[in-house]
Amino acid sequence: MKAIQAVRGVRDILPPETAKWRRMEAVAREVFELAGYREIRLPLFERTELFARGIGETTDIVEKEMYTFHDRSGESVTLRPEATASLLRAYIEHGLHVQPKPVRLYTMGPMFRYERPQAGRYRQFHQANVEAVGEVHPALDAEVIGMLLEFFRALGLADRVTLHVNSIGDGQCRPAFRRGLLEYLTQHLSSLCEECRARVERNPLRVLDCKNPGCQPTIERAPSILDALCAACASHFDQVQAALGALGISYRITPRMVRGLDYYVRTTFEMVAGELGAQNAVAGGGRYDGLIAALGGPPDPGIGFAIGMERVSLLLQDVADPAAPLALLIPLGDAALHRLLALARSVRRQGLAVDVAYGARRLRSELDRANRLAIPYAVIVGDLELAKGHAQLREMAEGSQRELPLDEVPGELSRLAERRRRG
Ligand code: ATP
Ligand code: MG
Repeated sequence: MKAIQAVRGVRDILPPETAKWRRMEAVAREVFELAGYREIRLPLFERTELFARGIGETTDIVEKEMYTFHDRSGESVTLRPEATASLLRAYIEHGLHVQPKPVRLYTMGPMFRYERPQAGRYRQFHQANVEAVGEVHPALDAEVIGMLLEFFRALGLADRVTLHVNSIGDGQCRPAFRRGLLEYLTQHLSSLCEECRARVERNPLRVLDCKNPGCQPTIERAPSILDALCAACASHFDQVQAALGALGISYRITPRMVRGLDYYVRTTFEMVAGELGAQNAVAGGGRYDGLIAALGGPPDPGIGFAIGMERVSLLLQDVADPAAPLALLIPLGDAALHRLLALARSVRRQGLAVDVAYGARRLRSELDRANRLAIPYAVIVGDLELAKGHAQLREMAEGSQRELPLDEVPGELSRLAERRRRG
């Protein structure tokens, strides 16, 4: 019979890669919690309307990337393409705005976008998301960006990523910039790709985001948002930069970085790893003052970011799989098997990982198995040992073997584990 394969654009994460994922997740939790963020867990699907309102009707995500379907009651629901809209929905629904501000939250998990699968781009992918809600101070922007950098530093990746920052203005100054940009792009329609031409009228800022090489000369000569910022936005951006400077953070100002979601205002930022090629953005975020009100909540400002975990994983070396067992317990016969099943349970209760063989194969092939699984010790019990209440402890690397009382095996394995931990 023909085997069933996974859906296109989704992937399984197998061991030992899973060890890398646990490391990324542990580092994210540690870095975020040290900065006062607490975890929130959100549903994987929401009413479609939430994303249409929260991300923007004219974004690529809402126009063509969402997994939307009608459930059995006929309601339109969507697998979440990003986490901010859900998190803010929860913030509003549970009245979190009464808490001391900023309300600092993080979450991690899968996102779903119907995109063209390629290296570093999947239809189910994973993000770590951070949001700080209810504070407009520009120092918060710098602090959030600084925390994102800490995540990369803690993984040893600080030198391999570049921070890009920009301000994209707000409701005061962006409309005039948008008009000027629209005028410029309309004059240069013939030098833009088909997709950009279709985008110009509806969302001219998105043209600046186009990755098509043919569009780059036109994009590079386009008016810069930084020349169009109103006094309040310009001052906010100055203060963000001053705080980044105080933290000793180096960054590049990239005036054409507008980001994919419509809700951003003022500060936007992205972390880029050049070595990843076409899909080189490993994290991105920005400020979204006004979005909470647009979702029916209080007029609270906010800022956040999302880290693309698959792309971070591509940058990381394999890490040792901590789940590898310390010992294989090998019985030679049924009586020994029963003794070793109980022994395995008490060793595991001490927090040590061990495997038990069932005694159905020859000793030689069990030792081969221990070697292939890189298990450092074997505990062998045959009829002779069992009668004496003893076991053979074998060091797999040397092939050396010594006898000890069965009762002493748990203590001896603990001692060996401790010695290995110390190196
Ligand atoms: P891109 O420009 O690569 O499409 P984006 O602007 O759509 O990214 P965001 O919505 O800001 O991305 O998501 C934040 C991060 O999530 C990105 O920087 C990226 O690392 C990751 N990401 C986004 N889409 C995908 C995907 N389809 N597969 C894997 N990772 C993704
Ligand atoms: Mg995208």
